[in-house]
Amino acid sequence: MESILELKNISYAYHNLEGETKALSDISFSIAPGEFAAIVGPSGCGKSTLLSIIAGLLRPEQGEITIRGMPLSDSRTNIGYMLQHDHLFEWRTIYRNVLLGLEIRHELSAATKAKADELLELYGLKRFSNAKPSELSGGMRQRASLIRTLIQDPELLLLDEPFSALDYQTRLNVGDDIGQIIRQTGKTALLVTHDLSEAVSLADRVFILTQRPATIAQTVPIIFDLEEDTPMKRRNAPEFKTYFNLIWKELNQDETHI
Ligand code: ADP
Repeated sequence: MESILELKNISYAYHNLEGETKALSDISFSIAPGEFAAIVGPSGCGKSTLLSIIAGLLRPEQGEITIRGMPLSDSRTNIGYMLQHDHLFEWRTIYRNVLLGLEIRHELSAATKAKADELLELYGLKRFSNAKPSELSGGMRQRASLIRTLIQDPELLLLDEPFSALDYQTRLNVGDDIGQIIRQTGKTALLVTHDLSEAVSLADRVFILTQRPATIAQTVPIIFDLEEDTPMKRRNAPEFKTYFNLIWKELNQDETHI
């Protein structure tokens, strides 16, 4: 199948007065349309740098990125980016926060406003349309943030530790919830996380990165034999532990190489 995103031999280093920090070395992978991929790796290995490069915020020093076969810089593919903090504006209502991206792009219309209503209804936030973000729980805020991203109809969703600011219990629920929504919409997603259970419960494939400068240590396809493949059902399935241990071992093996 044609890939939506392809990285070929990507390398990147930060340069500042103290010198050079090599962050990525020779990273190559491709993602198929509709795939949910996760990237895990030690803290500081270069995960966020990699997402920033895919989002076009940083230019790779070496290598090539193509989106649907076109160089990233020429591509008109709409990329959605969700971060650890929801970045909702406290003085705007949830409805007006959801419309923010469209407003900036001058795409507000009766049709896009109707879509905002539809998504707020579908994802259980309709009655909070006129509430301010501070009136919502952390999980609901992340839902609002996801709706704001989805309403722009991104073909590719980049998720940079979007649940890590939440407490453990909430993170579990919100991770499952948001993961399900993304699956239902059939969006292609690339999730960066340091939480191995999150990766195993949500992804179709996990890329394990080494210590900085990050290279791909291993790619693990995640396949569960489940009638209804939900994050919660995955957590309770026997394969879960096997995948978790496999990834954990790979990461730990890397630690001993420091
Ligand atoms: P991760 O997301 O895996 O925790 P990052 O991609 O944020 O890792 O960072 C990778 C490495 O690059 C880290 O050592 C970090 O300190 C360094 N780094 C990140 N941003 C900058 C920057 N703007 N200037 C210099 N070094 C940076």
